[in-house]
Amino acid sequence: MVCQLFVGYRRERSVRKANRRRNDLRPKVLYKRSRRAFQAKSTPTVEKKPLNLPAPQDLNTRLPMGIERKKQDLLEYDRKMLVQWLADRSLASYRADQIMKWIYIHGENDFHRMTDLSKAIRAMLADHFDVGRLHLDREMVSEDGSRKYRLQLSDGAMIEAVLMPERNHSTLCVSSQVGCAMGCRFCMTGAGGLVRNLTRAEIVGQVREMISKADAGLPLTNLVFMGMGEPLANLNAMIDALSTLTDNDCGLKFSGQRITVSTAGLVPQMAALGQQTRVNLAVSLNATDNDTRSRLMPINRKYPIEALLAACRDYPLPKGRRITFEYILIAGVNDSLTEARRLAKLLRPIRAKINLIPFNPHPGSEFRRPDEAAVLAFQKVLLDSHYTAIIRRSKGQDIAAACGQLAAEDSNRF
Ligand code: SF4
Repeated sequence: MVCQLFVGYRRERSVRKANRRRNDLRPKVLYKRSRRAFQAKSTPTVEKKPLNLPAPQDLNTRLPMGIERKKQDLLEYDRKMLVQWLADRSLASYRADQIMKWIYIHGENDFHRMTDLSKAIRAMLADHFDVGRLHLDREMVSEDGSRKYRLQLSDGAMIEAVLMPERNHSTLCVSSQVGCAMGCRFCMTGAGGLVRNLTRAEIVGQVREMISKADAGLPLTNLVFMGMGEPLANLNAMIDALSTLTDNDCGLKFSGQRITVSTAGLVPQMAALGQQTRVNLAVSLNATDNDTRSRLMPINRKYPIEALLAACRDYPLPKGRRITFEYILIAGVNDSLTEARRLAKLLRPIRAKINLIPFNPHPGSEFRRPDEAAVLAFQKVLLDSHYTAIIRRSKGQDIAAACGQLAAEDSNRF
């Protein structure tokens, strides 16, 4: 009796196994209905740009600086691309959900540990893909609890990410480029020029690596694209990365309301960001007249304050949201009460809030930080004009906090 039960169990198990194998290799036509259901389920509520699916070999050419990569980085694939890859191999579309959940929800990097996939699929994935990792090169911890990480990319380039603990959550400051072409005079990253754009995989990879670094009880829920680079100068990769970061089914499940993308003022790209995503916009303003702004931020010569504020007025702001204007206060340059009053007037037609950031001096910088009284007086003018105006203290002042400072250390460039 015991033997028969055991034989029966083994027979049943081998039938189940054969069924599973057949399921994986069943011709794709049988899955038409389930794929349609899957696509309907994943239809985004926000209109997205049409996805121009690259052939897998094209993804190699998108990697910077001619790096030869034997395998595709799976982080370059969104669900739609993965479904197509599976369909080309007559595999069911629901496998894409399973794979993405392993990658983004369980944080798994090893295909062989994805136990709800058959061994054949796991082997196929391992043959074609790897999961791009960023090498954690250096970590510095500030007295205020913020942690700055230097991350090395596959071509040896360095970027930075800063993890900032808040009251009940953590915020990550994310980089979008290696270096930056904008040349803002107050910024150390700008002084080094642009090396290259980050890929979608490298942007998503930064966040993926940092999720586990957040302190227990302070989960990483907020992202600010205010690290190295001008995010809107790398718009396609940014929008691709944002779709994975905000994918609520099998992505990293960040709320668009908790993601802020900052720009120095790339006017045409601002509209595209507003149309294709639901994230928050921050504009780095820093002056109230074109002469001063052009001196601080060369991009102002191409898109002066009038054009920038017109783009802000036209920006498709979701209901209840405001554009954040960042204003770095620099002693004797843009911190007078006249400028505070002019700022209040300039922003009047826009749903705005203002972050005042006293300048954080870095080696070689020509600017000075204003004293506390000047900062408070500037803030008072804005508060009296009924703006939300918050003084943001630069975090990690004791740990090479200026943007680009850590990445540039030990090397001439990034
Ligand atoms: S402030 Fe931002 S946009 Fe300006 S140079 Fe630095 S990284 Fe680039």
